[in-house]
Amino acid sequence: METVIVGLDIGGTYVKIGVFDREAELIDRWQLKTVEDGKVLVEYIWNSIQSNLPSEFNCEGIGIGIPGFIDYKNKTIIEAVNMRLYNFNIEEEFKKYTDIPVFIENDANVAALGEFWKESGDIADMTLITLGTGVGSGIISDSEIFRGKKGMTGEIGHCIIDVDGYKCNCGRHGCLDTIASATGIVRAALEQPIGDSLELLDDQEKTRRNLVAEDVFFLAKNGNKHCRSVITHAVDSLGLALANYAAIMNPEKILIGGGIADAGQEFIDAIAQAFHDKALSEVSKNTIISKARLGNDAGITGAAYLVCKNNQITAKDINKAQHL
Ligand SMILES: [Zn+2]
Repeated sequence: METVIVGLDIGGTYVKIGVFDREAELIDRWQLKTVEDGKVLVEYIWNSIQSNLPSEFNCEGIGIGIPGFIDYKNKTIIEAVNMRLYNFNIEEEFKKYTDIPVFIENDANVAALGEFWKESGDIADMTLITLGTGVGSGIISDSEIFRGKKGMTGEIGHCIIDVDGYKCNCGRHGCLDTIASATGIVRAALEQPIGDSLELLDDQEKTRRNLVAEDVFFLAKNGNKHCRSVITHAVDSLGLALANYAAIMNPEKILIGGGIADAGQEFIDAIAQAFHDKALSEVSKNTIISKARLGNDAGITGAAYLVCKNNQITAKDINKAQHL
């Protein structure tokens, strides 16, 4: 009978599902469209898992990462706005269908855990910064998820960079999110006419109306001065926020992930340079900044690792994650 671990990355649009073996090899992965009614979500996911797993299997656990406020001890989603789930005990819900143990964490923590697993135990203090629609992070401190009192650590997107800056959706002004998220980059790019460079985008069948962050990077690379200054401002702000963050947490490694991290090595190098320019010298010397490795698989991988951690699978098993 095959022993497997299931990792779920539940997002607002898709539920990503990964099946791993005990040596952390990814056996299978697929995704489902997230159903709008969170209450039927568990049955829907469980049916899909059952029909995709080997006919005879022993599942050691289901790990889950989900955006929102999570009470990981009580396996309860306190608030997941996208799925309209409030005070929802996911373990009880799974118990209606299966006795397989369930573990849950906030999605940013789970993604950081996935990257940490990939580091194979060489690093104990690590942070994953996610640059997407918003700017988020997950913190691993002394090989454990660093949660804080209410699981509110890692809100680096709400570090205030410019007190007179643009209004953030948190109600304050000038948060990193308003400058360095995909949304912030597009907003800043549209503040001034982009001009003739738009013709470059027409080549890619893009229009200004639905400009996305990758267009701003594309225009910046192709000589549009305004877009270049938008990206430079985002890079400098990230460097500043990370330098401040590192002065407090002293991470050994900061990984840059999320869709915007795919803008190219040049972008990652520029963030690293901005960080090293501003960080305390001793901190700077001992911090590595690089691109996250797992991309879209960070969530399912970290969710599977959540099961391993809770089942106390040994460090030797964990080191086999190098084969992932
Ligand atoms: Zn904010």
